[in-house]
Amino acid sequence: MVRKVSDGMSDFFGWFPSTTFENNTCIFASNFANTCAFDTKEGLVVFDVPIRQFGQKTFDEIRKITDKPVKYVIFSHGHFDHAFGYEPFLEEIKKKGWDMPEVIAHENCVKRFEKYEILDEYHDWINKQQFSSVFKGEKGSVVSAREILDPTIILKSNESSYSFKLGEVNFEVYHDIGETDDSIWLWVPEKKTICAGDLMISSFPNVGNPFKVQRYPKDWAIAMEKMREKNAEYLAPGHGRLIEGSENVRDALSITAEVMHFVHDEVVKRLNEGKWFEQIYHEMLAIYPYKFKNHKILRETYGSYRFAIHAVYRLYHGWYDSGNPTDLFPAKTADIAREFLKLNNEKSYFEHANKLYSEGKLQLALHILDIIIKGTDERNIEVITDALKLKLKILKQKVKEESNFMAENIMENGANQIKNRLKKLI
Ligand SMILES: [Zn+2]
Repeated sequence: MVRKVSDGMSDFFGWFPSTTFENNTCIFASNFANTCAFDTKEGLVVFDVPIRQFGQKTFDEIRKITDKPVKYVIFSHGHFDHAFGYEPFLEEIKKKGWDMPEVIAHENCVKRFEKYEILDEYHDWINKQQFSSVFKGEKGSVVSAREILDPTIILKSNESSYSFKLGEVNFEVYHDIGETDDSIWLWVPEKKTICAGDLMISSFPNVGNPFKVQRYPKDWAIAMEKMREKNAEYLAPGHGRLIEGSENVRDALSITAEVMHFVHDEVVKRLNEGKWFEQIYHEMLAIYPYKFKNHKILRETYGSYRFAIHAVYRLYHGWYDSGNPTDLFPAKTADIAREFLKLNNEKSYFEHANKLYSEGKLQLALHILDIIIKGTDERNIEVITDALKLKLKILKQKVKEESNFMAENIMENGANQIKNRLKKLI
């Protein structure tokens, strides 16, 4: 993997040393996603295994601290960065003739693995876009669910918790939905530790991801409040650094709960007022409180408040989101652009886009440039080249100003497509 991300994202990707806490009995290994291993008298409980590419690194880091056999593996959820880097652990088990560990997951995780089977190529394609800056140059598939480690203890949807004891340490597993419908989090009272999986990622929560399926902001807030009741000293997030100290843990959980309630309730209020998405979205941007905007835990490095507004809307609303019947069965955008170009020629649109650009109205300039780019005859090389060059310049500027990893990647991908097109044109 190529390591090129903005500063705030290096924590998210776990580019800091792995660590131990509670007298070396808890190992916090950070390799893209985090793994937490609990060392008990009778063996190890491993919460999450990383993405396949980092399985060996995490395994080696755990083995530097302890050589006890793995007795339990818990999947916080079935995403590629939390449940697939298990191979080095299995190799060791075979070599040493140990018993296979119990593997704990939610029943929706099993359904997720089935879904991944039918969407293997699609997920590879979509993840190469979402993570394009880190997967740059990767030739083969970056994720694949062709091989999985089958869960042996499966939490059913009507069971909200499961408990077990190993080496005089109690482990309490809870199911709540938030980023996914198969989320599991762990409370270890003797270690005063919560492992949150991706319910906590040291960024604004990944709710409303532009590439991925529905997430659940209200339930997310409730999960945070349930974790807060435990009064933990340590909060191991799915991504990002270990959160230490009961006050810091409480603060991280409280502010995340609060922002999830806020975005949910304010969008719902506007739905009840009979508003359509565009109006709700821009009103929500205008009312976003300073205390959330500037909170370290809610930095928009991976998730974004802007995405979260979509998540709530989509939770309750269908795809017809404008209230304008023109949008019900729209014409092709290229056909619409061609009609605009019959009213005013490319030159006038280009001049106007340039004016908007010089006034700093970058988004509006992009909309105007798309009329030329989509509507101009391919043979009109000079006109299309100028429009593409200006769009490229604007996208680069927007990337520089953007703090969100996914938004950056989307715009960077668009810029790269333009560069390739320009190479063919010039
Ligand atoms: Zn993750």
